[in-house]
Amino acid sequence: MKTSLVKSLIMETTFSSKKISIQTIIRKGIPTIKILGIPTQKSTEISIKLQTILISNQLNLPYENIQINLTPSGIKQYNHYLDLSLLVSLLLAIDPALVMIENSLDALDTMLFLGEVNLFGEIEYSESLTSIIIHAYKKGFRRIFLPYNCIQHTLFLDDLEFYPIFHIKDLINQNYKKIKGKKFLSLPSTKKRREVQIPQQIVNTLPIILSGKHPTILFENQKLNKSSLLEQIEYLLPELNEEESLEILLYNPNLSEPRRPLTKINSSIQNKEFLGDSYDFGILLKTLNGILFLEDINLFDKKIILFLKELLEKNEAFIYKKNLESLNIKNKFWIFLSTQTCPCGNFLNPLKVCTCSQKAIFEYMKKFITFLKYQIEIYLHISNLNFVTMKENEILKTKQKIDKAIEIQKNRFSNENFSFNAQIPLERVYDYCILDSKESEEWLENIIDTSNYDYEKKLNLKVARTIADLEESTLIKKHHIIQAIQIRKLITLYEEPILKKTLFVEKK
Ligand SMILES: [Zn+2]
Repeated sequence: MKTSLVKSLIMETTFSSKKISIQTIIRKGIPTIKILGIPTQKSTEISIKLQTILISNQLNLPYENIQINLTPSGIKQYNHYLDLSLLVSLLLAIDPALVMIENSLDALDTMLFLGEVNLFGEIEYSESLTSIIIHAYKKGFRRIFLPYNCIQHTLFLDDLEFYPIFHIKDLINQNYKKIKGKKFLSLPSTKKRREVQIPQQIVNTLPIILSGKHPTILFENQKLNKSSLLEQIEYLLPELNEEESLEILLYNPNLSEPRRPLTKINSSIQNKEFLGDSYDFGILLKTLNGILFLEDINLFDKKIILFLKELLEKNEAFIYKKNLESLNIKNKFWIFLSTQTCPCGNFLNPLKVCTCSQKAIFEYMKKFITFLKYQIEIYLHISNLNFVTMKENEILKTKQKIDKAIEIQKNRFSNENFSFNAQIPLERVYDYCILDSKESEEWLENIIDTSNYDYEKKLNLKVARTIADLEESTLIKKHHIIQAIQIRKLITLYEEPILKKTLFVEKK
């Protein structure tokens, strides 16, 4: 009896993979090739294919009973990139000398053979093996044989070795070259920086938003150019780490190198387009580790708003997919929302008169106020735009400050399952947001003016925590709280008595 064992990988769903073993046993008996562990119909097709490949390459097929076992069994769908693994397993059982890889069979455990093989033994082009390779890396594979024409898309991991081949003869004749994966290019410093104009007020608040990952809403009297804003933000975001890079490539397999996704969507988006379906990851997953900007939040489908609420409240949310297991999405986004202040857009505008009724304003803001009001930590009012361009040295300085504040948070939360101030669960706020004096404490308590006092106090403290981190201050001081309250004060605007008062004054 002759045996061999090769490891491989199958994708169970678009999101999860399983390591499998492919064992070939050759023994005396009725001469046949049987493949066990995949659907019967495929099994016959593949065994005929393997025989044909051997014959067309003048390789002797033993006149014996050959059984190829895929375990754990129950693979529902045979992926053709498994062909090469099966073929290697078969060749090794026939004669280990046929496939001598670096003269050591021990290395087989970390080797993965990926590729659809045609009847002549040529390795077929595969559209994208990126996600399979990322999963393989996570499952411990380090050397990957793959179709030659796939190589340019896969060189993103410097821990991996790639062996591109054209034909199974390349494998047998050891006619291949090892290509080391390379480190990611660091981005976006290589990109030419375009000068963009954004409101001064946003420039002042961006370090807080970006370093604490605080969900933010812009109340617009004037529609802001979001693309310019995102372009500016890209330069201020922290560099990608390996885990983030892999995740980005996994969900954006067409990227040649990872960069933080900047996604702007409006209310015309379909729920399916946002959350994905069995065929497409969806905008949400494609934006993981990047900026998610929802324009005109009050016009969005309620389903998306509720999803967002869950994500912000629990720092994770579930997507249920037809025919797929549910998928847990962690809150790895910087979330921005925007809305007009009222249907006509002039409410709060010091230069123009709002013509909306109070009822119309409430109706317009209803979705945000009902579902997201306390999930959003930073409120910005955009009126009287005073545009500025951030200069090169200002960008660098701001970026350094943000990086430092992120590092401080990372250390502080090293034993937690979150790493940004915005993600501190409300019941833990007092563990981490500690005030410097009784005086600051009293001051904070006296100034909060809203119906939901306890909530508001905690959210103020979270924002103040980030402001203190940007100053590298361990304790939160009075001036940090003052700034936080300034940033959050708009929250009270749409509370009934105040709205009334404001309208009354304006109409007079
Ligand atoms: Zn109005």
